[in-house]
Parts: sequence; structure tokens; C-alpha cells
Amino acid sequence: RKLQHQTDGKSKKLFNKEPATADIIARAKDLRKHRQSLPIHTAREIIIQEVKNNACVVIVGETGSGKTTQIPQYLLEAGLAAHGTIAITQPRRVAAINLARRVADEVGTPLGQKVGYSIRFDDTSSKDSMIKYMTDGIMLRELLSDPLLLRYSVIILDEAHERTLRTDILFGMVKSIQKQRSDMIEKDGRKDIRPLKIVVMSATLDAEKFSEYFYNAKIMYISGRMYPVTILNTVEPQSDYVDAALVTSFQIHQDEQPGDILVFLTGQEEIESLEKLIEEYAVDLPAQVGKLIPCPIFAAQDSATQQKIFEPAPLGTRKVILATNIAETSITIPNIRYVIDTGCHKSRGYNAKIGIESLLVEPISKSSARQRSGRAGREAPGLCFRLYTEDSFDLLDEDTVPEIKRCNLESAILSLKATGVDDVTRFDFMDRPSKSGMLRSLEHLYALEALDDEGKLTEIGKKMAAFPVDPPYAKVLLQSEKMECTKEAIEIISLLSVDTIFSSPSSKREEANEARQKFTSIDGDHLTLLNTLRAYESMKGDRDWCRENFINSRHMRHVLDVRAQLIQFCERIGINPKKSCGHEYDIVIKCFLAGFFANTALLQPDATYKSIVGGLTVSIHPSSSLFGKKREAIVYNELVFTTKHYIRGVSAVESAWLSHAAPKYFGQRHA
Ligand code: ADP
Ligand code: MG
Repeated sequence: RKLQHQTDGKSKKLFNKEPATADIIARAKDLRKHRQSLPIHTAREIIIQEVKNNACVVIVGETGSGKTTQIPQYLLEAGLAAHGTIAITQPRRVAAINLARRVADEVGTPLGQKVGYSIRFDDTSSKDSMIKYMTDGIMLRELLSDPLLLRYSVIILDEAHERTLRTDILFGMVKSIQKQRSDMIEKDGRKDIRPLKIVVMSATLDAEKFSEYFYNAKIMYISGRMYPVTILNTVEPQSDYVDAALVTSFQIHQDEQPGDILVFLTGQEEIESLEKLIEEYAVDLPAQVGKLIPCPIFAAQDSATQQKIFEPAPLGTRKVILATNIAETSITIPNIRYVIDTGCHKSRGYNAKIGIESLLVEPISKSSARQRSGRAGREAPGLCFRLYTEDSFDLLDEDTVPEIKRCNLESAILSLKATGVDDVTRFDFMDRPSKSGMLRSLEHLYALEALDDEGKLTEIGKKMAAFPVDPPYAKVLLQSEKMECTKEAIEIISLLSVDTIFSSPSSKREEANEARQKFTSIDGDHLTLLNTLRAYESMKGDRDWCRENFINSRHMRHVLDVRAQLIQFCERIGINPKKSCGHEYDIVIKCFLAGFFANTALLQPDATYKSIVGGLTVSIHPSSSLFGKKREAIVYNELVFTTKHYIRGVSAVESAWLSHAAPKYFGQRHA
């Protein structure tokens, strides 16, 4: 007999894979007790009152006190979502997903109904969503189609202390939207427009700055519970922190009281490699010792796997949570008593050398280190194992510098323009860059053809805004697409992303210089670097070979890492990263000139070089392949001032190439 559900020709869904409504409601009931036990619960009424009575409120609270999961629910319960959704922005996708799942559970409706999230390429929110967790990038994107963000009644800017470039841009945008909306209501008498409430949330105490910026908004402090955490530093610096974390995890597991371990690593690759190592070594644990279970957290996990992180480990076993700095303040995992801090993160910012985003591992700040150790003391006294010495802690920066101050101003301007802010000089920055700096950057962007005569973003500019590297490098890549040499352009940019790929120990400087001779190109450093990479790859990165040839193999591996990311990026936006110029290297140098025309110098009769911009006398750095050489014109990547104005990353060019590389620039000056 035919099964009934097949008879109508359509394949109907027979079972609902989502949990039954009754189960969802039962779970929400169970969670009610947890909600009421959170430190923030006692402040519920006052938070609701403050948000009702004020346009902007700043809320500071210890991580784990309940800000991100509870405040949106309080506001919902108080009726603040009656005329629009409550949005909560997050700098990280994983956090947005996780928090939405949790809050949907607490509210007692399936994810995507009352509570949803929206991240790039994945939107579970619906028209009915009253609470929506989203990345700051998505909110910036929504601004383009809904410039007054009218679908929202409350915007909660979470994790404000991280001061990412996107959050900073959002601060300015949201502040101006609030003003525009209230003007429309008060001055124009618009009945269809509702006021916008802004809530800024931060995990660190320096909230005055946020308050000042939002018209001296009231600051509310939510205290958390905190037990003492004992901090241990290593005696010696650790060259391999993944290995050190492995050893420390097993040491804790065998010697210490029950309680889970949280390890801070820098990225998915490290997380996965430590996961494997732990699994391998766990096999050899003595029978009387319970299991040690690694639990990685990263973006592409299904909800069941992710839920495992929050569930207690089976009796007698111990979990090791392997996370990036997402576990620092964005999500709180219960039952952690031991923290292992590698002292590093991939800063979502910036490698200052080529301005590439979140690629290189960098030391954290003291304030991050404190947040990390704090994770061990939420439920009982804890222990934090810092895999670095006390001296290295002392050398860390006090706070993470806001991204807008670290990143190249030109990138920030491109981002703003791409978000629809035309007059960037009048943008309301929380940390304002200097006006002269901004004008200089605008001129440079114009010369790079990213802006047109009216200062509007061009097609090239739009593409450049999407690149994860600084504008000049983005221009090199775009030019390389035209000239069909993207392979070489990517390789050279990657090689420039580290200080140097060569090592020259002071005791063996002569030898090192000699070894380098065989890679040296008479045309300069760009091609010397490329030669070295080719040789390195033909030797398959052999360590002995690197040592004999004075190549820094650690830096070389970074170079390959950056290259892989740039290749992936080009593929994603439809540039073929394999197009090669063969041996016609002039072509790729011309591409560099298209991005770095402002860094050019001409040979003078007295054998010095004078920069075309600013007329500075510049000296080729002794480490350069062109040191002591006379060429008609040169292009360079950076100017460093020590005892002289030294230039590094230098290649020879022909002066005739200049006007062709940047017609907008040389056209005016040298016509
Ligand atoms: P805050 O934003 O103040 O740092 P949160 O609102 O993120 O605090 O977290 C409040 C509490 O909710 C924490 O104790 C945390 O352990 C718990 N929590 C958050 N997400 C989950 C989850 N997915 N599963 C279990 N507990 C969770
Ligand atoms: Mg939070």
C-alpha cells in the first residue's frame, strides 16, 4: 500500500527535526532558575528603568554576569520590542550564533522565531524575531538598505571594549541615526518614526569614554562573582606554546582537583592540532586516571557539538576547552577552574607591515591577560598557567589599542565610504584622527584611483575596500589582475609581510651576506625575495637548507600562510591567483609602482636619491640588494628613520614608467 505522505506527489516532511514545542518550553522552565541566579538578576528592574528613561545607557559588567544573554530578554519582557527588534551586535560570528541559540532556549521558542541571529551568509532571523544577535559587519551592511535602521527599537553595542574598526564606525553611525530619528519626531512631527535606544556594553571598567561620547550617558556597573585566581608563569620563555599547553594540560589533569581547563590559542589550525595531540597522548594515561576530553570551539560547528562545550564532563573525566580569544569575554563556559594562557592571539586588526587583517599572531595586552586568568575564578578559586615569563608579561601593552588608531587611516576611510559616509572629515569619531592626516589620506586614495573627482568611491575603490590588505597593496593586486601576474604579486606581498625572511646572526654576518648573494637580483629586493622563495620551495622548506642559507624558516612559514590566505581571497572575489608573468618580471614591478608611486625616488647628480614626494634625501638600507647601486629611479615599500631616512624593500624602475603607473598623480605634478 502506498504510504500516505507520498500520495500527493510532493515529498512532505514527515518528522520535524526540531525538538518538540513541549520540550522547548520545559527546557526554558528549567533554565529560569539559572537565569535568576545570575549576578545581573538583582539589577533587572533598574536596568529596565534606566533604558526606558534614557536614550543611551552604558553598562559595564564582569564577564559572565549575564549582560549579553539577559539584558535583551529584560528589555523584551518590559515591552521595549513592541515597535521594533532589539539588536545586539557582536564582533565575532561564533559568539553571535552561540548567544542566539542560548537565548532562544531561555526564551523557549525555536531558534529563528522570537530569537535569531544574522551573520554573513547565514541568517536565521525572521520578521517575527524580537531579539537578533548579529555581527557588526552585518549591521553596517543593513545600513546601506535601511539608513535609519528603522526595523530596530533598541541597538545594543556589545563588547565595546574591543574597539574594532567596525564597532567604532557603528558607534558614529548609530549615534547619528538616533539624532536623526528624534529630530524627525520632534521637529517634523513624524508619528510613524520611533525613537532609537542605544545600550553600550563593555567588560572592562574604562567606560567613561563611551559615556562621554554618548552625551554623558549614565554608566551602570554590574558586579560579578569572583574567586581568587593564582597565577603561575613559566620560568623560561616557551618556543612552542602548543606543546607547552599540551604538557600543562596533562600535568593539571594528573595533579589537580576536578574542574575543567580552558586553553587560549590563536586559531582553528592550532586548536585542531592540539585536539589531535591530546587525543593521542590521552591513550597512554594510567587506567586509574579519568579521561581527558578535548572540546574545540570554532565557527563551523553544528549546535549539538557546540552544546557539548557547555555540558558537564562525565563523572571522573575532565574537559579541556580549546578556544581562541572568543572565550575571553564573548562567551562564558561554566565549570572552568584552570586557564592555560599562551599569551598570544590573532589580532583581528592588523599586521602593520602590509596592513593585512588578522593574519599574524601577536602578543595580547595585559588587560586581555587579566581577563583570561579571570575565567578560572568564576565558580571557585582557580589557577592560571601563563605560558610566558613574568618579564614578558611586564613588557605587554597595558590595553589593546583601538583598531582605528592602529590601522592605516586609508583603510578606515575606504570602509567608511563603503558604508555610505561620504564626508569622512565630519564623521563623529570616538577617537578622531587628525584632519591633516585625513586630507593626506584622501589625496592618496584619489591618486590610487579609489576615489573620483568628487571624492566618491570608484569601482576600483569598492574592490579595494573589500581587500584584507592596505590600499596600496590592494591596488597592486588589482593591477596584477590586469597585467596577468597575480601569482608573483601575491608572492611578493606575502614575503613583505614579515620583517625579513633572512637571518643574520651578528657572529656570522659575513657568512650570511655571502649566502644571500645567490638569491640577489640586480633589479632589487622584490625579485630577490621572489628568488629566495622559489629556492626555498624547490628545497621543500628543508630546515637544514634554511640554516645553511641563513633563511628564517619560521618567518618563511608565515609567508606561506599569508600567501594561502591571499590566494583564497583572490579566488573568492574572482581574481585568478595562478596567472603568472613567467620571467617577465618588469611587469610585476610595474604593478608595485601602481600601488607605491608615492614611494619613489630619483638618482641625483651627487649620487644620492631624492624622494619624488617631499624631496627627502633617502638612503638605501644596507640590507637591501640595491645598497650602493646607482639606478635612475627606485620604488620602495617603507621609509624608516633611524640615523638617516632609510628605505627598505627597494627595486629599480625606469623613470618613464612613473607617469604610466599613476597618471592622476604624475599627470598633475610633472605634466
Ligand atoms: P556576559 O555577557 O555578562 O559576559 P553572558 O550573558 O554571556 O554574560 O553569560 C551569562 C551566563 O550564561 C554565564 O554564566 C554562562 O555560563 C551562561 N551561558 C551562556 N551561554 C550558554 C550556553 N550556550 N550554555 C550554557 N550556559 C551558557
Ligand atoms: Mg557578553
